[in-house]
Amino acid sequence: MPEPTPVLPEVLAQIQSLPASDRPLIICDVDEVILHMILHLEEYLNNKGMHFLNHSYRLTGNIARTEDGAPVPADQVKRHLITFFDEVSHEQAMVPDANAALAELTDQWDIVLLTNLPGSHNKPVRETLLRGMGIPYPVLTNSGPKGGAVAALAGGRAHPVVFIDDSPTNHRSVQASLPASVQIQFIADQRFLNSVEPEPHIDLLSGDWRETSRFIRSIL
Ligand SMILES: [Mg+2]
Repeated sequence: MPEPTPVLPEVLAQIQSLPASDRPLIICDVDEVILHMILHLEEYLNNKGMHFLNHSYRLTGNIARTEDGAPVPADQVKRHLITFFDEVSHEQAMVPDANAALAELTDQWDIVLLTNLPGSHNKPVRETLLRGMGIPYPVLTNSGPKGGAVAALAGGRAHPVVFIDDSPTNHRSVQASLPASVQIQFIADQRFLNSVEPEPHIDLLSGDWRETSRFIRSIL
């Protein structure tokens, strides 16, 4: 288990600008949870002559050039991800039922979206896209593991905190920083979902917003 990570100052500033509340809280990731990402990334890679080697949950070492099968080095993957988000973040498709499932939880839960979207210029683009889908919740941008931000968001709330994210790295980080949180690993892409072996701190593994909503309702 990793050491608890401190919250970054720029993330803390965003958290402190939220209205004070003591309601139960859902902290929800965006990519591959509310918006499709793997679907779009695969299309982007194919268009550029690359493909996923397998459906295990990592990007570095898992992308190869189709021409000769050579793995794409980590720094190039990183650069491609930045270009990818610049190109697609205005038109990513919604994961089915995400808007309705979140809306019906707002009677009892506060909802905050915590996303590791690269490029600060992409944040307003994402906010506009989500609002147009009926997903008007505050968007906080983070970078790196999310444990510190989640612990700061939970800040003294006596009520349950639910954390929803596709990434095993983020879930390990949240387990280290806020072990009392309810952890839902949500992966929209069936192939990647099926390749995941849930770790002991995962309370629900799902790729279905109806199931996820029912599970969250049963917590209170
Ligand atoms: Mg994600």
